[in-house]
Amino acid sequence: MNTTPELSFEFFPPRSKEGSEKLMAVHSELMRLEPQFVSVTYGAGGSTQDGTFEAVKNMLATGNSTAPHLTGVGSSRDDIKSIIQGYLDLGVKRLVVLRGDLPSGMVERGHFKYAEQLVQFVRDEFGDDLHLEVAAYPDFHPESASPSTDIQYLKRKFDAGANSAITQYFFNADSYFSFIDEAQRAGIDAPIVPGIMPITNYATLTRFSDACGAEIPRWIRARLEQYQHDEKSLKAFGLDVVTHLCFDLLDNGVPGLHFYTLNKTEPVQDICKLIGFEQTK
Ligand code: FAD
Repeated sequence: MNTTPELSFEFFPPRSKEGSEKLMAVHSELMRLEPQFVSVTYGAGGSTQDGTFEAVKNMLATGNSTAPHLTGVGSSRDDIKSIIQGYLDLGVKRLVVLRGDLPSGMVERGHFKYAEQLVQFVRDEFGDDLHLEVAAYPDFHPESASPSTDIQYLKRKFDAGANSAITQYFFNADSYFSFIDEAQRAGIDAPIVPGIMPITNYATLTRFSDACGAEIPRWIRARLEQYQHDEKSLKAFGLDVVTHLCFDLLDNGVPGLHFYTLNKTEPVQDICKLIGFEQTK
């Protein structure tokens, strides 16, 4: 296992010029933690295509490794080819390759029904130079028929050419370690980096978690509910929970930590400081 875990930070694309300026200020602050790379999410079906491209361009211009997310659902092969070519022209070297969820109102799933097919397509069309990340789910994907089929499908993404995976967030370290054990038994030896969600808001976190299948343990959910109108206590409790989770993961040799920043500086900085990642000046 890697003894020097790497950080990475995920952002979402802003919707306005003002949002873009704010995001670049957050990005600049978080770069002081010297992440291995940052990534920018993509609205499935292409809903944030321009915003993602713009944010990736701005971040790459600062000289830092930036990975656009790309979803396949609802897109044609030509769409995907031209989006990737645009990124290659910018100097992108890493992509986060996903299936995505069909936006409401869209019914045509298109050529890429699963992420595995998109990974295969990128390899066939663009060769082996790009580093491809895929998604993994320690609490299991909500649509998966069973935990073992979810792992088998993850294995197929690696067989198709993925280099590493980033997980959906989770709050129980055992869920991650049991997932890793099972993945290794299935023949996956590539890095699977835990995704870390800072806890700062009760309503947003519970809504997200219910939608994506990330489990909030009962004792954590009860406390968050209790503190939902007391921001200071909620943030202090959230910081404590996520910091302990990170310590647990680092003590057991994870290859890195991928933070879902939600385009905010402080929650990530606070956790990183407590777990011993130094900021440059
Ligand atoms: P897949 O790997 O295709 O899996 C989807 C489901 O299908 C799973 O249940 C799997 O078990 C099953 N499956 C896979 N292959 C097969 C097969 N051959 N036959 C039958 N079943 C199969 N969404 C966005 O819209 N934009 C983003 O930027 C984005 N970024 C993300 C980043 C990370 C790190 C993570 C963890 C998720 C992200 N998502 C994003 C959410 C993601 O798009 C959804 O979770 C989506 O439902 C599944 O995408 P996937 O790539 O994991 O799909």
